[in-house]
Amino acid sequence: MARRIIDMHQHLHQTNTAEAMAEEYARLGVEKVVLQAWPPRRVPGNNDDVLAAHRKYPDLFVPFVGFDLDEMKPDDLVRFQEEGFVGIKFIGPSRPYNDASYFGVYEKACELGMPALYHLGIVGNYEPWTDCDSNLMRPIHLDHIARGFPEFKMVGAHLGNPWHEEAAMACRWNPNLFFDLTGSTLKKKTPEFIRSLLWWTPTTPHYRSPDGTHAWQKIVFGSDVNYYETRDVMRDYEVLMSALDLSPELQDAVWYGTAARILGL
Ligand SMILES: [Zn+2]
Repeated sequence: MARRIIDMHQHLHQTNTAEAMAEEYARLGVEKVVLQAWPPRRVPGNNDDVLAAHRKYPDLFVPFVGFDLDEMKPDDLVRFQEEGFVGIKFIGPSRPYNDASYFGVYEKACELGMPALYHLGIVGNYEPWTDCDSNLMRPIHLDHIARGFPEFKMVGAHLGNPWHEEAAMACRWNPNLFFDLTGSTLKKKTPEFIRSLLWWTPTTPHYRSPDGTHAWQKIVFGSDVNYYETRDVMRDYEVLMSALDLSPELQDAVWYGTAARILGL
């Protein structure tokens, strides 16, 4: 049986047009692609473009709204959900993600059943991110939010690069916190490095996760590259998971099952 795949982290932009992605993802057998929109203050119009892509290819593209934590209000999520957005993308806040002033947004997201993907760690030093303080986007902030909102399904991007250790321990302790391995980590870090971070299993005698899950049940596939590089990222995931000798069941969870649960499919 063909492998089922959800790409949890992709973007729509000049190179990644809806048409080009639809063609490539059909070729690669990727069933669903979550489009993580950027907020209007950073990339004007991206929310509308993502929604338009979803309407053109409703079975393929899953839209996450680019939400500006400093300029938008919790109730804006109601309208976004009505428009068709399934989840929320956060990036570039002016306060730490776990600032109490943002908790109303997370509470509303829980109430509406909208999952979220948070950019974590260092952000590229190019427009429109040149004023960003990456320290406001640390993995440990999500640990705090996850404890306060156990129903809120959250995905942290890039395994928190360069704060991988923070990300891994936050992942272990919070059943509602997941991570993708997009970015340079998969390219430049060794399988041994990743193994040393994602080590817990249901049968680890001590130091398990509270819900008894395997570390790799908390990891999802994401690409976050130009569409024509997606195959290359898939290969990186394949090489890593086989180097770590992950069972076929765990590999299926990374490719599809865990993302499907997060998205409520
Ligand atoms: Zn991204």
